[in-house]
Amino acid sequence: MHENQISPSEWEVMRVVWTTHPITSKEINDSLKAKKEWKLATTKTLIGRLVKKGMLSTEQKGRKYEYSPVVSEKESIDEAIDDLLNQMCTTKVGQTIETILEKSTVSMSDLERLEALIQEKKVNAPEKVKCGCTPGQCSCVHQGGKNDGDEIVSD
Ligand SMILES: [Zn+2]
Repeated sequence: MHENQISPSEWEVMRVVWTTHPITSKEINDSLKAKKEWKLATTKTLIGRLVKKGMLSTEQKGRKYEYSPVVSEKESIDEAIDDLLNQMCTTKVGQTIETILEKSTVSMSDLERLEALIQEKKVNAPEKVKCGCTPGQCSCVHQGGKNDGDEIVSD
């Protein structure tokens, strides 16, 4: 788990800063005007939290403060994915990825990359995914239980 998880509102601010930086609080607020009816004070509060969390750096330019991202958008998305996946039994990850794909609109080129990745994954995929859960946190049978060895496909 990452201590500095960012809230949905903070993500809105980060997306503006990832797109344009350095940027002032007023410029961030103006960018979000069409989507969020936040007062400047609200945006400033969110910015303050993001600075505290180490997500934004701040630099004084004359009488104004300008903000820049410390962590990239890609890194932040990857961390959010890690946090999500670490919250579930490893045996549920495949199903979760399936759900994400089902719910998503993806381009032909995205699908082609996914297809290539699936082929690559198939080379070393285990017959069954091992569960590393604390007993009591999932319904897998732990230590040599009955669910070992079903669904065996001979090659
Ligand atoms: Zn489990």
